[in-house]
Amino acid sequence: MASSPAAALATQTDVLIVGAGPAGLTLAASLTQLGVDHVLIERADAVQPGSKAAFVQPRALEYLDRVGVADRLVAAGVRGRHFSVHDGPRTLLRASYDNLDSPFPMMLLVSQQTTEKHLDRRLTELGGTVRRRHKLITFSPDFPGVTAAVAAPDGSVHAVYARYVVGADGVHSRVRSTAGIDFPGTAREQLFALADVRFEPGSASALLEDTTFFFSSEGMLLTSPLAGGQHRVVASVPSGSKAPTAEEIETLLATRGPRESGSKVAEVITASTYHVQERAAEKLSDGPVFLLGDAAHTHSPAGGQGMNTGIQDAGNLAWKLHAVLTGLAPESLLDTYHGERHPVSVGLVAFTSQMTSLATMRDPELCQLRNDIVAAAARAPHVTDWLARRLSQLDISYSPEPADGTYHVGQRVSPTLVPAAGLDWTLALPTSHTGPAETGRIGPVNVEFVDGLETPLLIRPDGYLAAHGVSTDPHAVLTNLASYLPGGPPR
Ligand SMILES: Cc1cc2nc3c(=O)[nH]c(=O)nc-3n(C[C@H](O)[C@H](O)[C@H](O)COP(=O)(O)OP(=O)(O)OC[C@H]3O[C@@H](n4cnc5c(N)ncnc54)[C@H](O)[C@@H]3O)c2cc1C
Repeated sequence: MASSPAAALATQTDVLIVGAGPAGLTLAASLTQLGVDHVLIERADAVQPGSKAAFVQPRALEYLDRVGVADRLVAAGVRGRHFSVHDGPRTLLRASYDNLDSPFPMMLLVSQQTTEKHLDRRLTELGGTVRRRHKLITFSPDFPGVTAAVAAPDGSVHAVYARYVVGADGVHSRVRSTAGIDFPGTAREQLFALADVRFEPGSASALLEDTTFFFSSEGMLLTSPLAGGQHRVVASVPSGSKAPTAEEIETLLATRGPRESGSKVAEVITASTYHVQERAAEKLSDGPVFLLGDAAHTHSPAGGQGMNTGIQDAGNLAWKLHAVLTGLAPESLLDTYHGERHPVSVGLVAFTSQMTSLATMRDPELCQLRNDIVAAAARAPHVTDWLARRLSQLDISYSPEPADGTYHVGQRVSPTLVPAAGLDWTLALPTSHTGPAETGRIGPVNVEFVDGLETPLLIRPDGYLAAHGVSTDPHAVLTNLASYLPGGPPR
């Protein structure tokens, strides 16, 4: 993507976003769509190459649909349908995405670069821009916001006053360290190797068609098809190992994977080794400062969750910033960003850590016990459905109540029930409603009749339930909108 035009950098803005990875781009596209003044700076001159996120999960697609990116990504990627766990050729567990209640029942196989390019393109279409080759150096409090020092491509340093500053600047976040927000957690000693490869035509084992964890006492192995006919191979390796060669990848597959000879690596497209850190920021906001994406949480990439969580952090924050900056909501609404997303960060780090620990067990007896337990659990009703919902992130809810088929404020409302309406609020009325009701857009609220509803629902711009049993009069709902905000009075 080309550098941004050389227009002067604004000296003040409502929101300064630092970092144009998937999280920062999603936030910028959302704020542009909502008409919120912001500046997005990025130190790199283009979308960075390299093997990173390979999957977009259904819940992230549902949000990206609201900003007009999901269909393009689906067209650019490949639909993955299953997540499996194997012991050699033996299937221990196979979770299917087919039955997920989502317009996007798929683990979309698409590279992070493609995702970022589509987000960047959409941002430009909406009228926004990325200020590339602009680096945040520091910022200091300037009540009620901050004044940031930003280095421009020519080395000059510019002061930018921002009412809010958002750190979407990755795991080594300058925003997080400048704000003094702690990033507690651990670094795993285990080294992992990652390679994106192309197999010789027709040689790849049929067992490599699913995204699969191979549980072996030889060590962890994860394989997945990728877009463009490639495959990803991730394995735990001894410390000091170098990036794997084609022969080493074939050996990993033969010893830990399908345990069949024949999968011949024709080309290693990228290969590297990495260590996993498992950390979650102690708080996601501090006064005018917000953290999202890897700046807020980092963990094992196994399970394909990190980028997806950053996209949803952005979705949670965008409409709240808009509501506060337009006077619809009190400033305290912004506290609910931490309240809702911090438990998601902490839960994600714990879940991926447990998966990694399970997959890297080496004691043969314990490995046998683990495999037997996983195989038995997978036969229990609903276990594989639970896992698919967990991985797809459709189970994320801001309600303390369990999903029990009734309405709870804070739970996700499936767009298969109430179609997404961009970043508007939605007042969904039962088709059985007989009184007068206007439909269409009334202020920030989109009003529509929906089949199969028993009671009117008010849905937030990020797709979560704000209230149920509300008035069928859109004007009354609009007048009382502030009372339906999270953190507002009990309802
Ligand atoms: C090997 C690997 C495999 C992965 N697989 C998956 C997967 O399958 N699924 C998944 O969901 N996730 C996966 N992830 C994780 C995913 O890549 C990250 O979660 C994602 O990139 C985080 O996005 P982000 O926007 O928060 O941060 P980043 O992508 O790190 O973007 C941060 C941006 O901020 C910029 N920046 C930093 N400092 C400054 C500054 N001072 N000024 C201006 N700009 C700055 C950087 O240049 C960068 O562009 C994987 C990661 C790795 C390494």
